[in-house]
Parts: sequence; structure tokens; C-alpha cells
Amino acid sequence: MTSQAAIGIDLGGTNLKGAAVDADGGLLAQHAIPTDLPGGPEAVVAGMVDLADGLLNRLSVSRQALVGLGVGSPGPLSIREGRIIDAANLPGWKDVPLRELLRSKLGAPVVLENDGNAAAYGEFWAGAGRGGADLVMLTLGTGVGAGVIIDGAVLHGHFENAAELGHTVVAVDGLPCACGQRGCLEQYCSAAGMARRVCSAIDDGEPCALSEVAGSGRTIDAAQVAQAARSGDRLCSRLWDDACRHLAVACVNIQHTFNPACVVLGGGMAEAGSFLLDGVTAHFAKQRWHLHEDFPTIKLAELGYDAGVIGAAGLAWRAMR
Ligand SMILES: [Zn+2]
Repeated sequence: MTSQAAIGIDLGGTNLKGAAVDADGGLLAQHAIPTDLPGGPEAVVAGMVDLADGLLNRLSVSRQALVGLGVGSPGPLSIREGRIIDAANLPGWKDVPLRELLRSKLGAPVVLENDGNAAAYGEFWAGAGRGGADLVMLTLGTGVGAGVIIDGAVLHGHFENAAELGHTVVAVDGLPCACGQRGCLEQYCSAAGMARRVCSAIDDGEPCALSEVAGSGRTIDAAQVAQAARSGDRLCSRLWDDACRHLAVACVNIQHTFNPACVVLGGGMAEAGSFLLDGVTAHFAKQRWHLHEDFPTIKLAELGYDAGVIGAAGLAWRAMR
């Protein structure tokens, strides 16, 4: 019988994903509902309250025993003020005081956090970084989400936008990024960036096992690239290896900037498992310095797509301690 729980919610443009989590990071129940975008923030807040109540009911936990609710949201945010400033995948959401709206409807403490940071906290608290004091996470998906945990706390920075590691530059004068810079990490090793590079090379006439897929108008994904690379396709092998090489550069920079015990890799690219991990660690061993053995362990994420909701709930537990 569960006596207390925290709820974690991932605020996505398509779905609200929720989970009830115990004090040790154990997942008690989870559920997802569509995000009522046309209804605006009020309707989405009502949906979040329904989602939380549904999870608590399922566990026979009263609202009084709800420790708190954590929300992982796309940014930019004012984390101190609990506001969403302007979220790209939530059209019309400008300067929404989400924390206060939720707290007044729910009657429990609410924590708002950037979704990349929430996922990093999840892996730190209950996943690949469990038992440690720090961790840096890279989520290799549509872009590269990231989070930095130092001494058990999420690093926010003065502008509350720290850990945008997907837009750290790993190639001077490299590939252009939608953010306006060139050579951003996410151009080389996000799942979407990987697929884009393969498609672009096929368009340039390079032979590839995935040419037929690209030619038929179907989308290529990172799993197909990994599979083709494993089977020896030259183009996919070269670009997969190049992604691993750029990720290793990122790990060197992370080592010198944050000096964490581990760097955790998650998201679509990490579904390739040891094929990604072995490639990155091999390049990291070649590129890292030789002055001191302060190397982070590079690991695969353990919580998959639950990291965000578990981390958001973990931050609610942390706030009440
Ligand atoms: Zn960028």
C-alpha cells in the first residue's frame, strides 16, 4: 500500500505524460492524455489536474498525501518564477504562470523545470547515475536535450538556460543550425540530424542501402541508419562514426567544464545501445587528454522515455525535503 506519492508530468505539444513515483524513484503508475492545445493554458492545466487525480485514484492515494507535482516543460522558462516564457511547440503560450495556475487548482506544491533538466534528474536519481553526486545527460532525439546535475542539484545558470549542450559548437565553421550558429553538436548526433545527413548525402548521389527508402518519400530514422551501418553500408557507417566522433568531442568538453562522474546518453540514437556507446568510448579514448585521469564514465540511459516524468516527480520530492 502506497502512502505518499509525487507526480511527474511531461508537458509535450502532443501528449501530457504523467507518472506517480515513490520516494525512492519507483514508478507506481503512469498514464498519458492528449494535450488540449486549442483550449490554451487553462485547458491544459485542467488536463494536468485530471491526469494527477486519475493516477492518485488508481493508487488509492488522497490529494492530501500528494507530496507535490513536478512538470518538465519545453523552454525557455523562468524556473525561479515558475513561468513558461515562450515554448516553441505550444503555440500561443507566452508568459504563462504555470506553477501558480497548477498550485491553485491542485492545492499542492508545484515545481517547474526544463524538460531536458528533468530527464537528467531522472537518470541521476533513479537511473544510470543512481547513487552518485553528479551527472551530465545528453538526449539524442529531434535535437539534443541536455541537463547538468552538480552536487545533487540541477544547474540553471544566471539566465536559467544552462546546459544547452546541443548548441555547443563541436565543429568550427561546421554545419549550419536553425539556431543561427554553425557546427552545433545536434547537427551531428541528434537522431534527426543523423537522418538528415544521410538523406542529404543520398541526394548528392552517394550510394546507400537506404536510397530506396529515401527515394520512396518515406522518412529515414536513426534506427535504420544504425542498422545499415551495422550491415556495413559505407555511407551509414561513415556518418554513424562521425556522430560518435563529435559526441566524443562533446564528452571531452563536458569533462573539462563540469568534471562529472558520468555522461549519460539517451534518446533515439541511444536505442542502438552498445553500437553507439562503443563508438563514442573508442573515439573518447583517442581524443581525451593525458594529463590526469579524470575521465567520466560514458553510459547509456536506463529509464528510456520515462526519465522526464520520473525526474519531474523526483524534483517535487527534492523540493519537500
Ligand atoms: Zn544550434
